Amino acid sequence: MDPLTASAEIDLDAFAANVDTLRAHVHPAAMMIVVKAEGYGHGLLPIAAAARERGIEWLGAATPAEALALREGGDTGRVLTWLYGPDTDLTPLVAADIDVSAQSEEQIARLVAAAGTVERVARVHLKVDTGLSRNGATVDDWPRVCAAAVEAEETGAVEVVGVWSHFAASDEPGHPSVAAQLQVFRAACEVAEEIGVRPRVRHLANSAAALLLPEAHFDLVRVGIAAYGVEPAPGLATLAGIQLQPVMRLRAQLANVKQIAAGTGVSYGHTWVADRATTVGLVPLGYADGVPRHASDLASVGLDGRRVPVRGRICMDQFVVELGPESTAKVGDEVVLFGSGSGGEPTAQDWAAVCDTIGYEIVTRIGARVPRVYV
Ligand code: PLP
Repeated sequence: MDPLTASAEIDLDAFAANVDTLRAHVHPAAMMIVVKAEGYGHGLLPIAAAARERGIEWLGAATPAEALALREGGDTGRVLTWLYGPDTDLTPLVAADIDVSAQSEEQIARLVAAAGTVERVARVHLKVDTGLSRNGATVDDWPRVCAAAVEAEETGAVEVVGVWSHFAASDEPGHPSVAAQLQVFRAACEVAEEIGVRPRVRHLANSAAALLLPEAHFDLVRVGIAAYGVEPAPGLATLAGIQLQPVMRLRAQLANVKQIAAGTGVSYGHTWVADRATTVGLVPLGYADGVPRHASDLASVGLDGRRVPVRGRICMDQFVVELGPESTAKVGDEVVLFGSGSGGEPTAQDWAAVCDTIGYEIVTRIGARVPRVYV
């Protein structure tokens, strides 16, 4: 797509400001920036570079492919990856000095083997499941996993760098699982210590916990969504007394403008029929670009300091907005689907509210067809 026609503008100054604000907020804990899913849709390598430029030591990548893409892109700093399958070859990760999560004796054994193959030390973060019920050793298995890690460390094949876990509901202040997970994590850290695990970093907090739960900061927090200027849930940054700046601004030029008569149906299925003579504009972005079809007839976009409503169904590549009977808008005028809100446009959170989802989904789903333009 021609970047003039439509683009996701990525404000790296806003990103840097968020990083600085959040880092000051979690001090003295260190801060990992999570760059999975193409930097939450903002672009893996530019975001990684911007984070490093702000002095961020740790980057987080869910998958080995993402971690290796960082290396291929020239990143040489610390990277943690945590989501891989039974057949994933861990050798390239160890060869590339990437820290890898492990939750079982079997995974530790695979890392030992990989370390032997490439004659390097495998850096491991032991994961305990404190209540999310995704990855992580169960509390019952935890002592055995720690013992296996200590044994592997004694051979020199492995360095246990971290002990870690992940929250289920830190974005819901007061949710009973939060205190419970904290307690389980503290106990797991004690068990690990008794067995001889000496992690450099213990980490549990995501954005919401980084914002609101200082007792969960430990040595390192893993921040994703907040660094991109989107609150984990509406109001959480305000509650924490900090201001975040949305980093992504999704905009497009009107590809067509036309007048329609009262009674004219718009877009597939004619779910909207004009009740007056009016002007409509065509926005050249659709659900294939990550604009949620669920927002059909519900969302609005910014145009020249005001909001104009989406009319009819959002299609694969385009959708229609109503500009109004008196509109002087013309082809080429810019509409802003979401941005900081400072120009009257909706935010990603506004789209999330309309679509009954979370801001994470809105920004991460903006498709590869939409050029990212770094401003
Ligand atoms: N840590 C892990 C393991 C994650 O999967 C994620 C993302 O979901 C994060 C940290 C960052 O979470 P958030 O974007 O809420 O800060």
